Amino acid sequence: MVFSCRQCGSCCMYLGDYIVIRRQTGPFTFECESVSTGTSFKAEVDEDKREIFTDFSFPERNPTACPFLRPDGDLLRCTIHRDSPGQCKYFRCVLMHVSDGQGLLLGTVRGTLDLHSDDRGLRTVWEEIVRKRPKDDGEAEPWIASFLIENGYHVD
Ligand code: SF4
Ligand code: SF4
Repeated sequence: MVFSCRQCGSCCMYLGDYIVIRRQTGPFTFECESVSTGTSFKAEVDEDKREIFTDFSFPERNPTACPFLRPDGDLLRCTIHRDSPGQCKYFRCVLMHVSDGQGLLLGTVRGTLDLHSDDRGLRTVWEEIVRKRPKDDGEAEPWIASFLIENGYHVD
Protein backbone atom coordinates (compact mmCIF):
# COMPACT_ATOMS: atom_id res chain seq x y z
CA MET A 1 0.00 0.00 0.00
CA VAL A 2 2.09 2.90 -1.23
CA PHE A 3 0.31 6.17 -0.65
CA SER A 4 0.20 8.31 -3.75
CA CYS A 5 -0.78 11.96 -3.29
CA ARG A 6 -3.08 13.13 -6.09
CA GLN A 7 -2.13 16.75 -5.41
CA CYS A 8 -5.76 17.70 -5.01
CA GLY A 9 -4.66 20.24 -2.38
CA SER A 10 -7.72 19.74 -0.22
CA CYS A 11 -5.59 19.06 2.88
CA CYS A 12 -3.85 22.45 2.43
CA MET A 13 -6.98 24.54 1.79
CA TYR A 14 -7.57 25.35 5.46
CA LEU A 15 -4.01 25.53 6.76
CA GLY A 16 -3.53 29.27 6.35
CA ASP A 17 -3.63 29.73 10.12
CA TYR A 18 -1.12 26.94 10.67
CA ILE A 19 1.56 27.54 8.02
CA VAL A 20 2.36 31.21 8.50
CA ILE A 21 4.87 33.45 6.74
CA ARG A 22 6.64 35.55 9.38
CA ARG A 23 9.01 37.46 7.10
CA GLN A 24 9.96 37.59 3.43
CA THR A 25 13.77 37.50 3.21
CA GLY A 26 14.22 37.55 -0.57
CA PRO A 27 12.19 37.39 -3.79
CA PHE A 28 11.36 33.70 -3.12
CA THR A 29 12.62 33.08 0.41
CA PHE A 30 10.66 33.26 3.64
CA GLU A 31 10.92 32.74 7.36
CA CYS A 32 7.86 30.77 8.39
CA GLU A 33 6.27 29.10 11.35
CA SER A 34 4.40 25.86 11.62
CA VAL A 35 1.97 27.03 14.30
CA SER A 36 0.62 23.61 15.34
CA THR A 37 4.10 22.37 16.29
CA GLY A 38 5.49 25.79 17.23
CA THR A 39 8.50 25.29 14.94
CA SER A 40 10.16 27.84 12.68
CA PHE A 41 11.40 26.93 9.24
CA LYS A 42 12.98 28.64 6.27
CA ALA A 43 11.36 28.08 2.89
CA GLU A 44 12.43 28.85 -0.64
CA VAL A 45 9.89 28.50 -3.43
CA ASP A 46 10.88 25.58 -5.69
CA GLU A 47 12.52 26.86 -8.87
CA ASP A 48 10.03 25.12 -11.13
CA LYS A 49 7.06 26.64 -9.26
CA ARG A 50 8.08 30.30 -9.14
CA GLU A 51 5.90 31.27 -12.06
CA ILE A 52 2.73 29.87 -10.47
CA PHE A 53 3.74 31.20 -7.05
CA THR A 54 3.83 34.80 -8.31
CA ASP A 55 0.16 34.67 -9.27
CA PHE A 56 -1.40 35.90 -6.02
CA SER A 57 -5.01 35.80 -7.20
CA PHE A 58 -5.49 32.32 -5.65
CA PRO A 59 -4.44 33.25 -2.07
CA GLU A 60 -6.44 36.46 -2.38
CA ARG A 61 -9.55 34.45 -3.27
CA ASN A 62 -8.76 31.72 -0.70
CA PRO A 63 -7.46 33.40 2.46
CA THR A 64 -7.86 30.19 4.51
CA ALA A 65 -5.45 28.26 2.25
CA CYS A 66 -1.78 27.75 3.04
CA PRO A 67 0.06 30.75 1.57
CA PHE A 68 2.28 28.41 -0.48
CA LEU A 69 -0.57 26.62 -2.27
CA ARG A 70 -1.16 27.48 -5.92
CA PRO A 71 -3.25 26.09 -8.80
CA ASP A 72 -1.36 24.47 -11.65
CA GLY A 73 -3.79 23.31 -14.35
CA ASP A 74 -6.18 20.87 -12.67
CA LEU A 75 -3.90 20.42 -9.65
CA LEU A 76 -3.23 22.42 -6.52
CA ARG A 77 0.47 22.30 -5.80
CA CYS A 78 2.68 22.99 -2.83
CA THR A 79 5.23 25.51 -4.14
CA ILE A 80 7.75 24.75 -1.35
CA HIS A 81 7.77 20.99 -1.78
CA ARG A 82 11.51 20.76 -0.97
CA ASP A 83 11.31 22.91 2.19
CA SER A 84 7.81 22.09 3.47
CA PRO A 85 7.68 21.03 7.13
CA GLY A 86 7.83 17.38 8.13
CA GLN A 87 4.17 17.07 8.98
CA CYS A 88 3.33 18.09 5.40
CA LYS A 89 5.87 15.73 3.83
CA TYR A 90 4.66 12.72 5.76
CA PHE A 91 0.94 13.50 5.71
CA ARG A 92 -1.13 10.78 4.07
CA CYS A 93 -4.84 11.48 3.77
CA VAL A 94 -5.85 7.94 2.80
CA LEU A 95 -3.93 4.85 3.87
CA MET A 96 -6.17 2.15 2.38
CA HIS A 97 -9.00 1.82 -0.10
CA VAL A 98 -11.21 -1.08 1.00
CA SER A 99 -13.23 -2.88 -1.70
CA ASP A 100 -15.39 -5.97 -1.88
CA GLY A 101 -14.50 -9.07 -3.92
CA GLN A 102 -15.94 -7.46 -7.09
CA GLY A 103 -13.80 -4.35 -6.72
CA LEU A 104 -16.60 -2.10 -5.44
CA LEU A 105 -15.10 0.56 -3.18
CA LEU A 106 -16.71 0.29 0.25
CA GLY A 107 -14.64 2.70 2.29
CA THR A 108 -11.31 4.29 3.06
CA VAL A 109 -8.98 4.17 6.04
CA ARG A 110 -7.70 7.68 6.71
CA GLY A 111 -4.25 8.75 7.85
CA THR A 112 -5.57 8.98 11.40
CA LEU A 113 -6.41 5.24 11.21
CA ASP A 114 -10.16 5.72 11.23
CA LEU A 115 -12.69 4.32 8.80
CA HIS A 116 -14.86 6.34 6.45
CA SER A 117 -17.59 4.06 5.15
CA ASP A 118 -21.37 3.78 4.92
CA ASP A 119 -21.19 0.00 4.41
CA ARG A 120 -22.80 -1.74 7.37
CA GLY A 121 -20.79 -4.99 7.01
CA LEU A 122 -17.48 -3.18 6.82
CA ARG A 123 -18.40 -1.00 9.78
CA THR A 124 -19.14 -4.12 11.84
CA VAL A 125 -15.75 -5.61 10.95
CA TRP A 126 -14.18 -2.28 11.82
CA GLU A 127 -15.68 -2.41 15.34
CA GLU A 128 -13.84 -5.69 15.83
CA ILE A 129 -10.67 -4.10 14.46
CA VAL A 130 -10.94 -1.23 16.94
CA ARG A 131 -11.23 -3.74 19.80
CA LYS A 132 -8.34 -5.96 18.72
CA ARG A 133 -5.82 -3.77 16.87
CA PRO A 134 -2.31 -3.17 18.27
CA LYS A 135 -2.10 0.10 20.18
CA ASP A 136 0.98 1.23 18.29
CA ASP A 137 -0.10 2.91 15.01
CA GLY A 138 2.95 1.62 13.10
CA GLU A 139 2.11 -1.97 14.02
CA ALA A 140 -1.62 -1.40 13.58
CA GLU A 141 -1.44 -0.36 9.92
CA PRO A 142 -0.24 -3.73 8.47
CA TRP A 143 -2.30 -5.60 11.07
CA ILE A 144 -5.50 -3.84 9.93
CA ALA A 145 -4.74 -4.56 6.26
CA SER A 146 -4.18 -8.27 7.01
CA PHE A 147 -7.35 -8.45 9.10
CA LEU A 148 -9.45 -6.91 6.31
CA ILE A 149 -7.95 -9.28 3.72
CA GLU A 150 -8.61 -12.29 5.99
CA ASN A 151 -12.24 -11.14 6.14
CA GLY A 152 -12.60 -11.14 2.36
CA TYR A 153 -11.92 -7.51 1.54
CA HIS A 154 -9.55 -6.18 -1.09
CA VAL A 155 -7.13 -3.55 0.20
CA ASP A 156 -4.96 -1.21 -1.86
S1 SF4 B 1 -2.46 14.32 0.85
FE1 SF4 B 1 -4.51 13.74 0.15
S2 SF4 B 1 -5.81 15.56 0.50
FE2 SF4 B 1 -3.65 16.23 0.54
S3 SF4 B 1 -3.16 16.85 -1.56
FE3 SF4 B 1 -2.58 14.69 -1.38
S4 SF4 B 1 -4.36 13.52 -2.08
FE4 SF4 B 1 -5.07 15.63 -1.65
S1 SF4 C 1 3.54 23.88 2.99
FE1 SF4 C 1 2.83 22.85 1.14
S2 SF4 C 1 2.10 20.82 1.82
FE2 SF4 C 1 2.26 22.16 3.65
S3 SF4 C 1 0.21 23.03 3.90
FE3 SF4 C 1 1.41 24.46 2.63
S4 SF4 C 1 0.96 23.91 0.51
FE4 SF4 C 1 0.33 22.20 1.82
